[in-house]
Amino acid sequence: MSSIADNIGSVTRRIQKATLKAGRPPGSVHLLAVSKTRAAEDLREAAAAGQTAFGENYLQEALDKIAALEDLPGIDWHFIGPIQSNKTRQIANAFSWVHSVDRLKIACRLSEQRNSDLPPLNICLQVNINEEESKSGCSLEELEGLASAIGELPNLRLRGLMAIPAPNQPEAKLRASFRKLANALKTLRQAQPEAGPLDTLSMGMSGDMETAIEEGATWVRVGTALFGKRSPKS
Ligand SMILES: *Cc1c(COP(=O)(O)O)cnc(C)c1O
Repeated sequence: MSSIADNIGSVTRRIQKATLKAGRPPGSVHLLAVSKTRAAEDLREAAAAGQTAFGENYLQEALDKIAALEDLPGIDWHFIGPIQSNKTRQIANAFSWVHSVDRLKIACRLSEQRNSDLPPLNICLQVNINEEESKSGCSLEELEGLASAIGELPNLRLRGLMAIPAPNQPEAKLRASFRKLANALKTLRQAQPEAGPLDTLSMGMSGDMETAIEEGATWVRVGTALFGKRSPKS
């Protein structure tokens, strides 16, 4: 079995190769290590190999790991899971990024509850790009209104958009989904230049990061290819 450090090396090479192939500047794509269900010791191993950004989906599990790894310098925690409104206070203060904001109520609470001693919280709006019944995320039509309202919130920085395309799509459909998200970001930048930096596309996972990078991803969120297969959550 390959080690987590080996996997970080090979994923980093995959990212570099795809970035080059896409004609994009080296270093323009960041690796978010998706560490849901992994033990704190696995994250420590990844951090020792140079990984600094970790993505978590479940608040309590994340808080336990953040506490266990408090001694590690320079770690950035990203929240990427569905957000319940009674959890926003802890999310607002334990993380530096939230990729999964999909409604104004959540954004308002995150801004209100973010400790003003901290720098503004970086957020992405999650878009339900394939209009799946069961999936969180706003619609493309809602983006402009949401961005304009979020642009007024003092403790948030609207960085861009995030999507999780429908599983098992043929390559062409998947690529079209990523492209749709990239185009939505461009449109938003023109329509709402004041809303925030709008420099971020959070898209692409273990199986499809190359396609996402070719379509403009700036963060790929990678779990399995770094840490191995997840056991089903009990
Ligand atoms: C689990 C998860 C990932 C990582 O998926 P892998 O296929 O294991 O790389 C990425 N993004 C989100 C939102 C996730 O929940």
